[in-house]
Parts: sequence; C-alpha cells; structure tokens
Amino acid sequence: MYANDLEIESEIKCPYCGYLYFDSHETLNREESIIEECPECGKKFEVEMCVMIDYRSNQNCKLNNEQHEWELAWWDKSDKRASECKKCGYVKHYGEEEK
Ligand SMILES: [Zn+2]
Ligand SMILES: [Zn+2]
Repeated sequence: MYANDLEIESEIKCPYCGYLYFDSHETLNREESIIEECPECGKKFEVEMCVMIDYRSNQNCKLNNEQHEWELAWWDKSDKRASECKKCGYVKHYGEEEK
C-alpha cells in the first residue's frame, strides 16, 4: 500500500454553510493546510487533512464457538449487574443479550 494513495473518506465541508466539496481529492495534499473560500457563502476557512484510522480488536469466545467463563459480578455505573469473561474479557451487563 502506498501512503500517498490513501483515500480521503469524507469531503471538505464549509464550516459556515455546510457546502460540500465534491472534488476534495484534488484540493489537498497530505500534511498541508490550506485556506479555502467557500463558493457558496464566500467565507474563508482553513482546511487540514486528517486521516484517522482506529482499530480495536476484541476477543470474543462466542465467535470461536467457546463458552464464556463468567467471573465475579459487580454493580456497574447504572446499577446493573455486570460480569466479565475471564477468557476474553467480554463484559456482560445483566439483562443485556450475550454477544
Ligand atoms: Zn460556505
Ligand atoms: Zn469469553
């Protein structure tokens, strides 16, 4: 994968009127901040390109056809019973469907 070929997920949007640019890809290079003038309302605003990739991997016994092993239960913040699987760390809240 070439870093420079990364797609920009969302288009540039005017923070004043909400005008959406449909050609954002051409407008910006990485690590550059530019001043744009909105073709709709005429206001100027700064545009920075942000690429955020967020991955979170969680284990889950159920996905592997294993049984959760529930450990100690406690009362969670909303005063519900909760318990945690000691194998995968999945937290089940009382009354909530098990995933
Ligand atoms: Zn605008
Ligand atoms: Zn588990």
